[in-house]
Amino acid sequence: MDDEWICGRLGEDESWALGAVNPPVFENSVFTFASAEELGEAIRNEDERYVYWRGTNPTVDLAQRKLAALERGERAKCFGSGMGAISATISSLVSAGDHVLVLGAVYGPTTQFLRYLEKFGVTHTHVGDLAECDSAIRASTRLLYFESPSYMAYAVVDIAEVTGWARERGLVTVMDNTWSTPLFQKPLTMGVDLVVHSLSKYIGGHSDLVGGVVVGPSRLIRPLALTEYQLYGAAMSPHDAAKVIKGLRTLPVRMAAHQERGLAVAEFLAGHPAVRAVNHPGLPSHPGHAVALRQMSGFSSLFSLVLDTESREEVGAFLDKLRHFRIGVSWGGFESLVNAPALSTEESVRATMGIPVGLVRLSVGLEPADTLIKDLGAALEGSLT
Ligand code: PLP
Repeated sequence: MDDEWICGRLGEDESWALGAVNPPVFENSVFTFASAEELGEAIRNEDERYVYWRGTNPTVDLAQRKLAALERGERAKCFGSGMGAISATISSLVSAGDHVLVLGAVYGPTTQFLRYLEKFGVTHTHVGDLAECDSAIRASTRLLYFESPSYMAYAVVDIAEVTGWARERGLVTVMDNTWSTPLFQKPLTMGVDLVVHSLSKYIGGHSDLVGGVVVGPSRLIRPLALTEYQLYGAAMSPHDAAKVIKGLRTLPVRMAAHQERGLAVAEFLAGHPAVRAVNHPGLPSHPGHAVALRQMSGFSSLFSLVLDTESREEVGAFLDKLRHFRIGVSWGGFESLVNAPALSTEESVRATMGIPVGLVRLSVGLEPADTLIKDLGAALEGSLT
């Protein structure tokens, strides 16, 4: 089964689709049964049987089958947001008294969620590398959570090395693979236990969807689907699942274009005198490039540059000068976006994460690279000379 076929066709030849090129959207909250006994049996296996939309839905199921196949996982569960998937996944793995190791920089609200869990007696420690993991691990450590490439800095984690370390110590590993999409990186094949994604980025691809997914073995997905999915209620709607299915159809061509345009823009910036650094793991100068080539088959187009300034005002002026990049959060859509943590993130959080004032994040969209390069070139001339 190749990825392009999974994205375009997997699960779409069922008789209920009647040959429609876009499978029908099951727009109903409830399913009925021929007998009370059948209903009881379905409720006991609600992770697999259609009973009520908050638990299961055939359109959501189709998106899940494709995402599980793309990640080479047994099962997937889609959520109403990436944070829905992340918070339910972490909750399913920890109990009061447990400790979590967080390796490298991760999405801000993931850290906020771990702080929130402190009131239930779950603690966590942020660590920078495996040597720090060695010192921070406790008898109560249950889970190791990470992203690769990492949040904002786009540092590369050696996935096989980290999962080997965790397995020897009996820890469960969870990795956020949103940056690469399952097309460019398959962490389950490198020993990760559960992979999470925000579907709101490249997979949706059109900035018209918020969704999330967790993928992994049935032994971990089934309890999560029967408990946290049902109780937290961050269910994906069939309409959003239809958008995921639509997004997947063009994901391979979009990612090829994002990769090419992102690298062209990154190379331009790397040679510009007003730019101190470019954090893009696809550049040979990136410290994690060799590991990235080993574990990834491509690069998405989200990266950061560091302007040669310590002034928040100059960073703001640079963003304001851009005419084509739009200023906003999120990433992975057709439109190019720019954001700067010095302007949008609490000062203490930025400093804790080691993000320099001059760091600017770019999400390179599907516009011609020349247009974007001209836009950035003009803004760099205008704000920093
Ligand atoms: N993971 C990463 C790396 C993200 O950047 C985001 C959102 O920006 C999320 C998870 C959360 O996804 P969502 O916004 O769909 O809840």
